[in-house]
Amino acid sequence: MRAMVLRSPGEPLEPADLPEPEAGAGDVLVRVLACGVCRTDLHIVDGELAEPKLPLVPGHQVVGELPGGERVGIPWLGWTCGECRYCRAGRENLCERARFTGYDRDGGYAELAVADERYVFPLPAEPDAAHLAPLLCAGLIGYRALRFCGDAERLGLYGFGGSAHIVCQVARHQGRRVFAVTRGDEETRAFARGLGAEWAGPADEVPEPLDAAIVFAPAGELVVAALRTLAPGGTVVCAGIHMSDIPSFPYEALWRERSIRSVANLTRQDGEDLLALAPEIPIRAEVTEYPLGDANRALDDIREGRLTGAAVLDLR
Ligand SMILES: [Zn+2]
Ligand SMILES: [Zn+2]
Repeated sequence: MRAMVLRSPGEPLEPADLPEPEAGAGDVLVRVLACGVCRTDLHIVDGELAEPKLPLVPGHQVVGELPGGERVGIPWLGWTCGECRYCRAGRENLCERARFTGYDRDGGYAELAVADERYVFPLPAEPDAAHLAPLLCAGLIGYRALRFCGDAERLGLYGFGGSAHIVCQVARHQGRRVFAVTRGDEETRAFARGLGAEWAGPADEVPEPLDAAIVFAPAGELVVAALRTLAPGGTVVCAGIHMSDIPSFPYEALWRERSIRSVANLTRQDGEDLLALAPEIPIRAEVTEYPLGDANRALDDIREGRLTGAAVLDLR
């Protein structure tokens, strides 16, 4: 099968012809239709996350087809132990022995992928594979982050890319007011307003206090900027797996029951909930499609912020 392979972090992915993967007991073999490209993939390829499997086929937003034709989604959470204190408490996203797709296990930058059948999601018939793929991580992690915002009415989204543009749609559906903080290009701001954000602009010009903020961009200084914009009792949720250091700030910025927290991974319940909600809204992902062989170009476009919405490898 054709695949894009990471052999050494810091180097571009290499096109490769690999033997077809074998499905073990309890696994499914999936023909990949589309695979979303996530910022996490970029962190893995750039060597910012410790110890990926090598060589590695990245990709954890996989929409594929089972031999019977049923469409399924393979997310980041690839396996959990079911026994540790987190698994037993319904917090499998924190499993001490969890294994992740496109990191500990080969993922979807390939024509075929293998997954544990207990961790794949059945998918609705619509929309097409490329537009479903971003829901499987960008959507899911964003949705989990949004949950931690409680009943916040005024929601700030810091970094308006693959994840935020989906969260914006869910948040508007829930009746929240959305403020999009972007790095400066008018195209992204217009995109955010088109999805229901009532304001889009730079971090130091947010027009009202926020009840919650989700930081998607991997820039620690945005955490402090968001904290300084929070109303009392508000929360800053950090949605990325990697971020530059957070600068120090005076305690006064945190005082009055403000909080900062991160979101890690997903549970299968998150996936079931979001995939049930998606057609109701309905969520429309904005995608830029690339052929499999252009995975490095897709990663570069994310790195440079050249995209509107989400990047997806199209293998149909
Ligand atoms: Zn566990
Ligand atoms: Zn991801």
